[in-house]
Amino acid sequence: QTMTSAEIRQKFLDFFASKGHQIVASSSLIPANDPTLLFTNAGMNQFKDVFLGFDKRPYTRATTAQKVVRAGGKHNDLENVGYTARHHTFFEMLGNFSFGDYFKEDAIKYAWEFLTSPQWLGLPSEKLSVTVYAEDDEAYDLWHKTIGVPAERMIRIGDNKGAKYASDNFWTMGDTGPCGPCTEIFYDHGAHIPGGPPGSPDEDGDRFIEIWNNVFMQFNRDEAGVLHKLPKPSVDTGMGLERIAAVMQHVNSNYDIDLFKQLIADAQRVTGAADINSPSLKVIADHIRSSAFLIADGALPANDGRGYVVRRIVRRAIRHGYKLGQKGFFFHQLVAKLAELMGDAYPELRQRQSAIEDALRLEEEIFGRTLENGMALLESALAGDKKELDGATAFKLADTFGFPIDLTADVCRERNVTVDMAGFEAALEAQRTQSKAAGTFKMAAGLAYEGEGTCFHGYQQANADATVLALYRGN
Ligand code: ATP
Ligand code: MG
Ligand code: MG
Ligand code: MG
Repeated sequence: QTMTSAEIRQKFLDFFASKGHQIVASSSLIPANDPTLLFTNAGMNQFKDVFLGFDKRPYTRATTAQKVVRAGGKHNDLENVGYTARHHTFFEMLGNFSFGDYFKEDAIKYAWEFLTSPQWLGLPSEKLSVTVYAEDDEAYDLWHKTIGVPAERMIRIGDNKGAKYASDNFWTMGDTGPCGPCTEIFYDHGAHIPGGPPGSPDEDGDRFIEIWNNVFMQFNRDEAGVLHKLPKPSVDTGMGLERIAAVMQHVNSNYDIDLFKQLIADAQRVTGAADINSPSLKVIADHIRSSAFLIADGALPANDGRGYVVRRIVRRAIRHGYKLGQKGFFFHQLVAKLAELMGDAYPELRQRQSAIEDALRLEEEIFGRTLENGMALLESALAGDKKELDGATAFKLADTFGFPIDLTADVCRERNVTVDMAGFEAALEAQRTQSKAAGTFKMAAGLAYEGEGTCFHGYQQANADATVLALYRGN
């Protein structure tokens, strides 16, 4: 007998409520008053000022199920979707927080109790391994001596400065803000899945899945990179609901959990895809969640800033539908299923269902005018087994056909083709210089498309792509 995602979410909140935590609602995906952040990327975002000591709450312990999007900025998983079993652009992060209340010992004890106690999740402890920050002997001893995790399932990992592998046990929200050493809990899905333990050369697989990160918030990083002590040592944790649901439902991929199974089936219905296992259906099921939730929170597809990220996600989904053979408008039709599946937990989906559908449908119409011709151009540019797409074509696709550069790169990646990014940037730069020389009135033309809709306004598009390039570079 397995637990549904909804049951796990509720159990988590109930558990921490039973430990004196205030249940707090998810905040919006659009961060309030935080220009350093593209979208809400962790449960702690809404408590940033509480950690920093600028904001006081009537509680010192809180628990949330938080809507999160990681599609740009410091935490960006857009390029992982469709390629790993564990990454989404939108996911739910379950968290417990201590604002100068308990610290390492209780955080570790709570996490272990919730995961292993038969009263809660009842996971077999031998499937769990734990990483700690390399220098954090206190956390190591708590896990090893107090909890009893054997040494062979404990791994010390540093802050990854100059390290060989991706693992990193010093969590930061962004370039600035609250941060601290962390300890992460991994679940072993079994030897039939490729991938090594954290800190190993083949750690980037789907066998050992990071399910829960416990951050010991102790510092605020300023613009110069200097760490300042927080007023009080605190705790911030995050567990991906979809990942723990996969564990509890005895499946090895997030895309096989209750919620995704149904969304993927609906994606097959609306695209008419022949193969239910197509990665494109996973991408579409992922992208309908991020785009619908973002639009519900007010980020509409647009040509710059947050709206451009939404536009990119929606267009990538549309292109995957096209790849599956669906040339008509399908994407907006998925909103109803999503609202049915997630509307109890997130009523905004039902309240804004028709507005979300309209925004997606409009984007399908706009992109639908250029998608087919753009794909034809791309196909002919790649004809003859080319291994690299030239920058001029990539630019033309962006400028004339509304293909964000990451969408073009997504198509190329499927075929093991790289994109000449330097050439693309050069073409972009040339366009910008030209537009500037032609006069500044174009800049005031706003963000809308120009003319009857087959062409994009070059200058605006160039700016938008510059935004994405900046995101790529991690700025
Ligand atoms: P990973 O190393 O797998 O990319 P992370 O270390 O970047 O994860 P954290 O910032 O520590 O993730 O976030 C806390 C938790 O949120 C993770 O332990 C994981 O369970 C979940 N999580 C992180 N990124 C994603 C994602 N893109 N999709 C689904 N769940 C995620
Ligand atoms: Mg990550
Ligand atoms: Mg990690
Ligand atoms: Mg982590």
